[in-house]
Amino acid sequence: MTQKHDLSLLSRLALAAGPPGSEGPVRQIVRAALEGVGSITHDRLGSLLCERPGKENGPRIALDAHMDEVGFMVQAITAAGRIKFVPLGGWWGHVLLAQRVDIITESGQLVPGVIASKPPHFLTEAERKSVLTPTSMLIDLGTTTQEETEALGIRVGDAIAPHCEWIELAGGIVSCKAFDDRVGVGVMVESMQRLGANNTALEGTVIGVAAVQEEVGCRGAGTASALSKPDVAIILEGTPADDTPGTPDRQAVLGAGPQLRFYDPTAISNRTLVRHVERVAKENQIPIQIAVRSSGGTNAKSIHVHGAGVPTIVIGVPARYIHTHVSMIDPVDYAHAIDLVVAVVESLDGAAVEKLFAF
Ligand SMILES: [Zn+2]
Repeated sequence: MTQKHDLSLLSRLALAAGPPGSEGPVRQIVRAALEGVGSITHDRLGSLLCERPGKENGPRIALDAHMDEVGFMVQAITAAGRIKFVPLGGWWGHVLLAQRVDIITESGQLVPGVIASKPPHFLTEAERKSVLTPTSMLIDLGTTTQEETEALGIRVGDAIAPHCEWIELAGGIVSCKAFDDRVGVGVMVESMQRLGANNTALEGTVIGVAAVQEEVGCRGAGTASALSKPDVAIILEGTPADDTPGTPDRQAVLGAGPQLRFYDPTAISNRTLVRHVERVAKENQIPIQIAVRSSGGTNAKSIHVHGAGVPTIVIGVPARYIHTHVSMIDPVDYAHAIDLVVAVVESLDGAAVEKLFAF
């Protein structure tokens, strides 16, 4: 990758509001971008699949990414018009106070609000030292009564998404919300587009999967597998970067290439597949980082135990500060991940896939 990669698709994906169970706006972008690339369908939870056929009896290769981002749901509207909420996915109270959010109404309209915080002037000594839980916070919409809030079209059960801007920082680094996992969705879509434009017959049938509800337990990836029926799956993620000060043994450094995840507590990648991808990266001069993670998890959790078992690997674009309003990636890693996925898919013929389960 020498040219600067066009980030317009990624920025639209990252800015779209799509908490678990409310992935509609992201699905719309994905569907439009994959139009003409393959046949598009969806499962009954809302995961979208795009199939580009290969040769008859060729292997079925799934490229999975999840559309949802960590968000919230309206639990109650107080008499003073504030919103009590539950988190959808993993949040830390420290990153929430005084942040902007959008409430997604039934009609799809976004109503802006802020998560209320006490000014330091009013804090007791004990309050200064504590971390609040999301369920003890309130969203302020500028209204003062329940009726006023309801008049905005807000109802219990509405989803809530973080709100932020797309920012370009020094050295080409970009910052936005939801890089977990809109970078994975972007890599999936752009790889499918490139494979679709490439007329050379692939042996494998490639199925791009944009799954729902990963952040609440890898749910859509499980149901989508019933339709994609993969022989092998590549899970594409925005993986947490660990190149922050004070972290030794780094395995996810911005700018050092896509990460191949060998292990996390939810899945062990297929060893032959990891080494295969490593070889393909080397042949194509794509830098990579290999990771063994003692925490976290991905859609590999549901996919690798589907049916009689599916060899999986997780390819991640390192992203700093995920599960906040201000995650950061190096677009060079994003472009390299697309190059790698395309090269890997082209290399996975029937013989290569059979080696993955030649026990
Ligand atoms: Zn993720």
